[in-house]
Amino acid sequence: MERVGRDVRQLPKAHLHLHFTGSMRPSTLLELADKYGVRLPEALTGAEPPKLRATDERGWFRFQRLYDAARSCLREPEDIQRLVREAAEEDIADGSGWLEIQVDPTSYAPRLGGLIPALEVILDAVDSASRETGLGMRVLVAANRMKHPLDARTLARLAVRYADRGIVGFGLSNDERRGMARDFDRAFAIAREGGLLSAPHGGELTGPSSVRDCLDDLDATRIGHGVRAAESPRLLRRLAEAGVTCEVCPASNVALGVYEKPEDIPLRTLFEAGVPMALGADDPLLFGSRLAAQYEIARRHHGFTDAELAELARQSVRGSAAPEGVKEKLLNGVEEWLAA
Ligand SMILES: [Zn+2]
Repeated sequence: MERVGRDVRQLPKAHLHLHFTGSMRPSTLLELADKYGVRLPEALTGAEPPKLRATDERGWFRFQRLYDAARSCLREPEDIQRLVREAAEEDIADGSGWLEIQVDPTSYAPRLGGLIPALEVILDAVDSASRETGLGMRVLVAANRMKHPLDARTLARLAVRYADRGIVGFGLSNDERRGMARDFDRAFAIAREGGLLSAPHGGELTGPSSVRDCLDDLDATRIGHGVRAAESPRLLRRLAEAGVTCEVCPASNVALGVYEKPEDIPLRTLFEAGVPMALGADDPLLFGSRLAAQYEIARRHHGFTDAELAELARQSVRGSAAPEGVKEKLLNGVEEWLAA
């Protein structure tokens, strides 16, 4: 008999790993493509999410190309506002009480009048979506590791300058196999000195050493993904002792071929080692599932009980940059969910 637990969409949680363009509803992408006469690649117009594989550079490149095609449909401030509002609505429907959305404003700069105007449009959109929907939202500015470290420094300075407009952290994304984390150490130092949390991607496409580099060279307080830390018991101990939250994105891992099947993702290994996790959807547009579905994967494929799912939700809240009052409210909500 199938085990039926409490509804994970009702479980209060924080969402700490969601990329900007990747958060778009597929139906919105189609409408925007229509609006601007953009011919989307077939992989983005089907009823099913695209078949991806990023374990080699070609596969990763294809994934990035699809991402770029989607981004090319975001051209005006109203498109950005729509994207953010819908991301907030989807998150609320999935039980999120706090959303940190990740963006590299550089990629929107050409269409929105430059880097600073682009960032302002994004921050304004987040601010109004948050007020309209009631969902607490903040922004992580993410540098692109395929670009020059000097670009990352410029972004870090900008992120610090706009910290009081809702930026809470600094990230580093794109292909981990390119460049070294330490190339970006100055940018991260600027971000940290400016009070932002350090949350680079690591331990997704490459193994434990990439997570170690994030800790040693970028003083990471959170790791985007980090799942591959499971290959090193020593590293797991280190993450657990330092309380570094790994933003684990199960559906993404399977979609990109990091793990073959949902049951191969080492969720149990991280959990039993005491490594705090915040499950995230990464790029729902391309991977076909949102926040609550990640908790469903933990339940269905890894046997997480409701009490364990509640603990995952608590970990996501504790790892967030939410104000104490918001955290307390969400943590109380988790207890109510369990008591129901
Ligand atoms: Zn990511």
